[in-house]
This record gives sequence, structure tokens and C-alpha cells, in this order.
Amino acid sequence: MQHRPSSTSPAPSARCPECGAPPVDGLDCWGQLGAVLAWEWQDPELFALHFVTVASYNLQHPAQFTVEALAGLKRAYLDHLDRGTPVSEIRARAGAGAKGTQRVRKPQEDQHPVLRLFDRTIADVYQPDHPQGAADRVRAWASAIRHQLAADSEE
Ligand SMILES: [Zn+2]
Repeated sequence: MQHRPSSTSPAPSARCPECGAPPVDGLDCWGQLGAVLAWEWQDPELFALHFVTVASYNLQHPAQFTVEALAGLKRAYLDHLDRGTPVSEIRARAGAGAKGTQRVRKPQEDQHPVLRLFDRTIADVYQPDHPQGAADRVRAWASAIRHQLAADSEE
């Protein structure tokens, strides 16, 4: 038994039940995303990848989204990565779709996370105190997800 200082909110010790990311430096995958997004302010290259970073995270946590929202997100992600569709166009499209009463997120009680392992997760992007090269790590992460999404649609 290790002796650790007790805390009211213990650091996460388990992998994420949905994306499988291990905790890094006491942060769960959501905390790691927040840390990476905070780096954007000092890193224009990473800032330019904001859509890719957030969409990659969301695609690895699909349980919270409705089927329609998830399909739209996948399409936008692949259009952006494969065809270079600008984020401004994706936003305009999403805005048009959101005008109706369609829900994007499922109610909490309908969310059932299923573990799906990918080659890379946010834990491969977030390296504590090492923001250098984060944009390259986001691109590698996105390419692993893109690869798996493309394999899904070929099934
Ligand atoms: Zn996760």
C-alpha cells in the first residue's frame, strides 16, 4: 500500500471508460483536453487546429451525442481532414442544422459510454510541461482517428 496524502478529490487512477486514455499527471482525459486547449494561446499552429483537437476528443467520446449530431460531426471531420473544407464552412453548416429543434447531446440517463480503443488518445497529445510539438501530436492523433473512421464506413 502506497502512502499518499489523502485528498477529498483523489486524482483519477483509472483509464477513461470511453476513450481508454490513462490519467496523466493527475488529469483525466477531459482535464488533459483542457490543458492542451490552454496551450493554444501560446501556439498559433495549435490554435489553428482547434476544430481538429475538439472534434477528435468528441469523436472518441460519442456516447454524449445524438446519432444525428455524431454523423454530422464525422462528416465535417472527414471533409476537413481529407478535402480541406474550411472550419468556417463547417461552422456555417452546423449553424444551419442547429436552427431546428434537434438536440446535439443526449440526456445524461441515455448516455452509455462504450470503451473503444484507438491507436492514440488525448494522452498522446498532452505531455505535462511539454507544449512543444503539440500541433504535430494533434495531427498524429487525428490521423489515427481518421483511419479508424474510414475503416468503419467500409464495413
Ligand atoms: Zn476519455
